[in-house]
Amino acid sequence: GGAAEPPPKLVLDLERLAHIPAEKAGPLQRYAATIQSQRGDYNGKVLSIRQDDLRTLAVIYDQSPSVLTEQLIGWGVLDADARRAVHTEDV
Ligand code: C2E
Ligand code: C2E
Ligand code: C2E
Repeated sequence: GGAAEPPPKLVLDLERLAHIPAEKAGPLQRYAATIQSQRGDYNGKVLSIRQDDLRTLAVIYDQSPSVLTEQLIGWGVLDADARRAVHTEDV
């Protein structure tokens, strides 16, 4: 991205996430629930997460951050805009 523009935020759609079967989304569902609990942020329909958390989740899912991002976009859990958040950091 351009130097003047901050990377887009990674915003999880919690309602969509809740409808993905647990055998696929279980680790992400537990991770998001942990962040909500740590923040005391229980009533949101969405949850903004750290860039670092996507890297951690990629390790958990044994995928690259960009492949995981594509999967989450496919589930409707991340906005397509999230692509720009990973590609700026992809190594
Ligand atoms: P922490 O990392 O020591 O952050 C302490 C407080 O600093 C947070 O309290 C929050 O008020 C603020 N803070 C830190 N980083 C950010 C940020 O990027 N954006 C905003 N808006 N505020 C920030 P809070 O929210 O009550 O969180 C308590 C603790 O829960 C955090 O301590 C951290 O250990 C964990 N946590 C909360 N949200 C996340 C998250 O999205 N990812 C991860 N990995 N941990 C989180
Ligand atoms: P934004 O980050 O674009 O978020 C837009 C709206 O999405 C928020 O409206 C809120 O309804 C929802 N949202 C986004 N992330 C979260 C989340 O992690 N948890 C929950 N429960 N809801 C979330 P809202 O609250 O009226 O905030 C409007 C704007 O104000 C935000 O736009 C952001 O730019 C700023 N803002 C609000 N709270 C914080 C904060 O704790 N830290 C920072 N840095 N900015 C904040
Ligand atoms: P945000 O609050 O708008 O913060 C944008 C970026 O500013 C963060 O991206 C991080 O690089 C930096 N930043 C903001 N506050 C702090 C801080 O207290 N300490 C440090 N070291 N850096 C800070 P990042 O980490 O990718 O987080 C993206 C978004 O995730 C944040 O946007 C916020 O909406 C949410 N978030 C992350 N961590 C926390 C947290 O601990 N508590 C809460 N309430 N929200 C968080």
